[in-house]
Amino acid sequence: MSLSAGHIPSLPGTYVLSLFLKRECRLTVGKLGAIFFKPGFYAYVGSALGPGGLRARLRRHLKAQKKYHWHIDYLRRRARIVGLWAAAGTHRLEHRWACRLIASRPHAAVVDGFGSSDCSCKSHLVHFELAPELRDLDRILGAQWHWSWVDGDLSRSAGNDG
Ligand SMILES: [Zn+2]
Repeated sequence: MSLSAGHIPSLPGTYVLSLFLKRECRLTVGKLGAIFFKPGFYAYVGSALGPGGLRARLRRHLKAQKKYHWHIDYLRRRARIVGLWAAAGTHRLEHRWACRLIASRPHAAVVDGFGSSDCSCKSHLVHFELAPELRDLDRILGAQWHWSWVDGDLSRSAGNDG
């Protein structure tokens, strides 16, 4: 089963997208300029606190071809979405999650400034050589996930509603 936005509620929340890039590539990412992307998995942290919430945001991410708006849109054109973790809530958790993801990967490539033009995070994009597993993210982020999906299965986790 592939992921569709219909699986995700229109609630505000914070999410981690997992993307898979099959081949290395060099992309020009807006004002960041040319960036070399290694193949493998990427975790991107964002929040969707506006109208339409998580569902509207996911719908946008799932579309590969669109006008570039966020840094992630450039990578999305080349990379496949293979996982989603989302928690509903109106608190903006993305920066805390981004910091934790970076701290969890001391030797991994962090794409400097990616997705973090408007905040003080080093980045909102972290490279993983192997697919991040749900339990890894649970541990890293200390979050109670509400919806998670890894290349096929969507499940609602036993998280609290905060
Ligand atoms: Zn941030």
